[in-house]
Amino acid sequence: MDRSKSAGPVRYTTLKVRLYPTPEQAELFEKTFGCCRYIWNQMLADQQRFYLETGAHFIPTPAKYKNSAPFLKEVDNQALIQVHNELSRAFRAFFKDPERSGYPRFKRKKDGCCSFTACNHDFPSGPTIYLTRDAIRMTKAGTVKAKLHRRPQAWWKLKRITVTRAPTGKYHCAILYEHGAKEPAPVRPASERTIGLKCSARHFYVADDGSRADPPRWLERSQEELAELQQRMARMEPGSKNHQEAVQKYRLLHEHIAAQRRDFIHKASSRIANGWDAVCVRADDLTELSGALRPSGFGMFREQLRYKLARQGKPLLTVDRYSPTTRTCSVCGQIQDSVSPKDRTWTCPRCGTVHDREVNAAKNIKAEGLAQLRA
Ligand SMILES: [Zn+2]
Repeated sequence: MDRSKSAGPVRYTTLKVRLYPTPEQAELFEKTFGCCRYIWNQMLADQQRFYLETGAHFIPTPAKYKNSAPFLKEVDNQALIQVHNELSRAFRAFFKDPERSGYPRFKRKKDGCCSFTACNHDFPSGPTIYLTRDAIRMTKAGTVKAKLHRRPQAWWKLKRITVTRAPTGKYHCAILYEHGAKEPAPVRPASERTIGLKCSARHFYVADDGSRADPPRWLERSQEELAELQQRMARMEPGSKNHQEAVQKYRLLHEHIAAQRRDFIHKASSRIANGWDAVCVRADDLTELSGALRPSGFGMFREQLRYKLARQGKPLLTVDRYSPTTRTCSVCGQIQDSVSPKDRTWTCPRCGTVHDREVNAAKNIKAEGLAQLRA
């Protein structure tokens, strides 16, 4: 790794682009996916055998397999090396924390792990992977047509690419860039420039000033359409032509909804991060919230807020997830035994204030975030 000229912290940006491979290039991608899966399984099996025989952990390198499986030579060797790195990482994570990471598993074709990763190398003769005006130049596939919505800055360094095929059959490429960034001057947030957000199933988030994110209607509509399609599919004969067509339609709609949601979250987080000096949220473990209470994508929203604020020197203040922010009166501080999630408003028995359940929680989240900042 080159640390010599790193001015300030190193940052990474990923650009995601749609690929339009020729039939030959698509075939090579498919071969590469297959080879990556094959070599992962081979290395994992050999690791297990070696471990049983000697008690030591060892993963052979991809080169070892090329004689017995010559088809491996047809694909980008970089992709195979990446599988080796990935498996090594999986084992390191497992040895460090077996409960959390789990033992690396064999990959099956039907699991749909259709991706490969390749690193860029800067040789004196030029880089192995680079962008052209409307394409990406790759090692084995050559120049693959791509649709770029955003271009990298001139000083960004292309580190690696990950090519994937979605269940809908579309190919995408995530391009990872490394670039130095100047450390922004830290912002001292004032109370009136700080916002508290409560995650909300109905409104996505509710802020302490009463404003709400309210995902656009079309998101809900597409979701209704999805549910309808699902019902129709249940009545069809599996494997029939109608069923197959419905499955593809379902996948496309699913993909469409995911893109819509990503877009919504991206815009909402930018608006908040640019408009405020600090943001307070609760560190809820979103996986613990039950279905109806969990706003879809809130975890992603929180992560985007974190980095969008950080690059402007602004803090994301996370409040303890066990803090009784919903049950506490934001006016007098009285704590109730419980406030039902069904009740949208409640009245404080001590000071008589009528609270909107979520706005009150957002106010408490903000107050606690600010207290944390002062401490
Ligand atoms: Zn009160």
